[in-house]
Amino acid sequence: MKIDPHVHCRDGKQSYKETIVHAFSVADAQGVQKIFDMPNTDPPITTEEHIIERLKLVPEDRMDDYYIWIGASSDANQIKEAAVCVEKYRNVIGLKLYAGTSVGDLSVVELEDQRKVYQALADVGYKGTVAVHCDKESLMKPELWDPKNPISHCQARPLEAEVISTKEQIELVRETGYSGRIHICHITSDETVMLVDGARRNIPITCGVTPHHIIWDESMMERPDGLLYKMNPPLRDQKTVSALRKCLLDGKIDWIETDYAPHQVGEKMFPPYMSGYPSLCLYKDFVENFLPSLGASEELIEKMTYGNIWKAFENKLQ
Ligand SMILES: [Zn+2]
Repeated sequence: MKIDPHVHCRDGKQSYKETIVHAFSVADAQGVQKIFDMPNTDPPITTEEHIIERLKLVPEDRMDDYYIWIGASSDANQIKEAAVCVEKYRNVIGLKLYAGTSVGDLSVVELEDQRKVYQALADVGYKGTVAVHCDKESLMKPELWDPKNPISHCQARPLEAEVISTKEQIELVRETGYSGRIHICHITSDETVMLVDGARRNIPITCGVTPHHIIWDESMMERPDGLLYKMNPPLRDQKTVSALRKCLLDGKIDWIETDYAPHQVGEKMFPPYMSGYPSLCLYKDFVENFLPSLGASEELIEKMTYGNIWKAFENKLQ
């Protein structure tokens, strides 16, 4: 079995981009059985009511294969309601915290507001998982973005924003006494992996990597279709990608998450130049051919596509 813990099924107002039903057909074609959907939909998924409505869109025979992350805001009451949903609904896999703006309106960018998330969860004794998109807003340089020069996106969202944000999240966990797991989503550098690795002794922490951050580097954005490779976090330089590959081969990254993020091609090549890549479409080739070509063992691939994910979410996946 293979599990993809990070997909964007969209649906609702964004059905023209993707739907839960169609995402399952892509997963099936790529050999993935279970998917964890992200809550930055339109509108975002942050309440029990949203969860109930969302689950109605799931085909009945896939209810054991569909899981949803519920979004975190800076409102303590909303966070507590979200924590209750994780306990109450087997299909709610955990909370998702956007510690920087990405796609959609769901983000908690101020450090003090992020602290409220961990504090509220510590107060209710939450033992589940918070998955975090680490990207420090104040370190982003949106003024550098120039669609005529797509690679400028990589400079507008520098690696530093990911590294510093990851460091901050780990500190917030320690300071608030939050005792659930923190998962750092789609890490792109060895620096981020080292931070996670250094924290493992003290707190339950995991990290994931996407196929695109392992396969490609930022030079892809210099191609004529470079805008298609605009994503958050962005592709990094070649040196960073090599170091990240080494971390993967050393078993320092817990799992592969595709961050499957479909948009219409027109929305990517023209305004608003959406960020995101449909990387679930790369999955089969990535795990069957690309990873072995890097030297990844069968055992490591099994852990990163299933074993480590199962271990982390055993109570939900059984
Ligand atoms: Zn995502």
